[in-house]
Amino acid sequence: MTTHSKRTLRILTVPAFDDNYLWLIHDGVHAAVVDPGDAQPILAALKTAGLALTAILLTHHHADHIGGVPELLQHYAVPVFGPSNEAIAAMTHKLAEGDTVDVPGLDLQLSVLDVPGHTSGHVAYLRLKEEDGAEPAWLFCGDTLFAGGCGRLFEGTPAQMANSLDKLSALPDDTLVFCAHEYTLANLRFASFVEPGNQALKARVAIESAKRAQGEPTVPSTIGLEKASNPFLRYRQPAIIDSLVAARKLAVGAPPVAAFAALRQWKDHF
Ligand code: ZN
Ligand code: FE
Repeated sequence: MTTHSKRTLRILTVPAFDDNYLWLIHDGVHAAVVDPGDAQPILAALKTAGLALTAILLTHHHADHIGGVPELLQHYAVPVFGPSNEAIAAMTHKLAEGDTVDVPGLDLQLSVLDVPGHTSGHVAYLRLKEEDGAEPAWLFCGDTLFAGGCGRLFEGTPAQMANSLDKLSALPDDTLVFCAHEYTLANLRFASFVEPGNQALKARVAIESAKRAQGEPTVPSTIGLEKASNPFLRYRQPAIIDSLVAARKLAVGAPPVAAFAALRQWKDHF
């Protein structure tokens, strides 16, 4: 009988640029990075923590998510995982929904979800809840779901994004949501305008504002919190539909996808 001593995985939050978060998943020795838009903060974090990079995971092709890849590869010759439907130089493993990644160097399996909308090939990575239930699931969703909001529709359609967010909404409530930007307070200002009577949202505004006042990240959030307060997961709620009818001339009885499209458009001009 062999005993496997499983190393505990931890996640380091690495801020970059004005408001990006790059995620380092590590076991104290090896590390995988999600969406390294900039190499320097990752190299610095690896050095400080005494970690060796063993994998790069990409959610979509935007520069603030992949810009650091070439420089990281100069220091670490590691595989680069990313979306099969996007052209990203240096990608070695092309992934789509249904694929599973055995992350090199780590005792970590991630399943891949297709979440088009922000870009047409955007993927998310999900670490399932462990069987003993000790650790919640982890979701790395790039620019699809944000704390209190969602990504802009640069390439996809409202129907695609609504479908992608519905998919994420179906994950367990305690799933930790590691999104790629600190947009939370601006998102919640919009959310409060759209759904002023939402008590969970009011409570969240107070909590997240206090975190930002202390200079702390509001990310990760949880799927449960997003379902309770993020209008882009709540576009079927009567109160939100009423706001869209009143402020954005949404037709009464319009299908949910039309409500979602109107909501996203409203946020674009808010
Ligand atoms: Zn993006
Ligand atoms: Fe981004």
